Amino acid sequence: MDEKELTNEQWQAWDDYLKDCHAIKIPTNNVDIDIILDKYFKRQLPFEDKKQNEFKDTITIESIRKYYEIISDNEFAESIYVVAADKGFRKSFRDDKEIVAFDSLNKFLNYVIIHTKYLAEAVNRQMESGMIDKFIKDNIVDEVYTANCDIDGCYDEFDITSVEYRSYKVGYINIIEDSLAEVTLEITAEICVEYAERDEEHSYYDKEDGKYLFEEFVKVQETHEVSFEANLKLYIDNLNEEVIKQKLNGTRQLIQEYDDELLTITCEPETISIPKGTIIVMDGGSLSEREIVNQTIDDNWDEEEWEGEKPYTTCPACGKPISHQNDGGNGFCIDCAWEH
Ligand SMILES: [Zn+2]
Repeated sequence: MDEKELTNEQWQAWDDYLKDCHAIKIPTNNVDIDIILDKYFKRQLPFEDKKQNEFKDTITIESIRKYYEIISDNEFAESIYVVAADKGFRKSFRDDKEIVAFDSLNKFLNYVIIHTKYLAEAVNRQMESGMIDKFIKDNIVDEVYTANCDIDGCYDEFDITSVEYRSYKVGYINIIEDSLAEVTLEITAEICVEYAERDEEHSYYDKEDGKYLFEEFVKVQETHEVSFEANLKLYIDNLNEEVIKQKLNGTRQLIQEYDDELLTITCEPETISIPKGTIIVMDGGSLSEREIVNQTIDDNWDEEEWEGEKPYTTCPACGKPISHQNDGGNGFCIDCAWEH
């Protein structure tokens, strides 16, 4: 029997298990022994008068403190939550604001659920207040004007002539901090655009020259009903930690349902923005109205070459542009008309 190999197998199984749980082993080698001895001689927590053999706990406590220092610097972690049945162990952290102790795993999980899922639910209820609706209405229009809008198939410039906010739907709510939530909204709005479009019927593309011999443009006005994502940031006010603490202390079970009394908050809108990289696409699917407003001649039209007369077709026989000046009257130019 290879004793060493068997031991290694067990260690490997244990390490795999920790990995499965996403557990991190907090190292003890950063712990300052001087601090521990100092606490021992001064009878500071967790060395209480009757318990003088708490070196093991003290090393653990100090290693957690050190670990917090490391992850707050490297990963900007804001807090560490400690779950421990031992009262003295928990009390040792009472002056560490960033290290929050719980006496049971359920209490800790309830704390997390309240500050994430249920807080998001409370924010969702706040969304129904008219103030937030008004804020979205007042601010989203300007965002659309500066957003990246695109008309499918339009290669020239276009103008947005008006934007009207219609409605929103709440997508998901992300609690960034206890006092800040980011709400992803699905916004519906109506955008009116104006652009010039080549009138292919009244333009003539010369294949030999590889350019338009004459071009006619029309001004088009369209109304599109578009949907796009926007991020709304909300301040969370009046989150009462005392009430939450009392409720948590009163229950040893996992809280199963959202409780209105637990989270009486108010929300204040801060900003609304359309995420960078968003393209608001206007296409056949979003089009609700289309109107040709007027006809305009292409600016490139060379009046001198054609003596000011704008051609409206070309002669099928010789390919010359036909205007009123040389219209043969039968679809051909004046030079070819007699042959047909
Ligand atoms: Zn002709």
